[in-house]
Amino acid sequence: MVNGKLGYYADFIIYAVLLVALVALTLEGSRSDQLIWLGAAIAGAASWTLVEYVMHRFVFHRMPIVTDLHHAHHASPRAYLGTPTWLSLLILGVLFFLPLWRLFTLNIAFGAISGLIMGWLWYGIVHHVIHYRRPRRLAIALKAASHRHLRHHAAAYGNFGVTTPVWDYVFGTHISSGARVKAIASRKLELPE
Ligand SMILES: [Zn+2]
Ligand SMILES: [Zn+2]
Repeated sequence: MVNGKLGYYADFIIYAVLLVALVALTLEGSRSDQLIWLGAAIAGAASWTLVEYVMHRFVFHRMPIVTDLHHAHHASPRAYLGTPTWLSLLILGVLFFLPLWRLFTLNIAFGAISGLIMGWLWYGIVHHVIHYRRPRRLAIALKAASHRHLRHHAAAYGNFGVTTPVWDYVFGTHISSGARVKAIASRKLELPE
């Protein structure tokens, strides 16, 4: 998962370009196809929150090799550690795009993948802002998400959702703010003002 500074930022650009290409492709289609694409994209974006939770809880924290690298991120939150783009593209293609294409249509698969990419980008932005506090305004707006995620870094359990706490509540892994003080203090992690 070590992708360096260049790979870290390139991931945002590659996915943004891919998303624009997918939207442009849809705009070429008929009105009804566009509406179906939009529905699939909304479903994909909503599903992202669960994908994010499962990925963080079971892949990043449980899967050998990946776990070591994710723990390196926990230890050095500002190091440029992340999932290499080729790996996330492979996962997106094999686990989501191909099955959706086979089960439904190419249009629906493109729509759903676009929604998942929107989720991936938003997750990347939120996670970046939490650790780098840039841009400042967004960091202030994401204060609650920052506190939640830094509690995760300090405790290394719970609060697996980065963009939303919904699934942590559903699966009983939410770390309350009461637990925060002790955990944060013991790891000397700063919280944004
Ligand atoms: Zn983690
Ligand atoms: Zn983090």
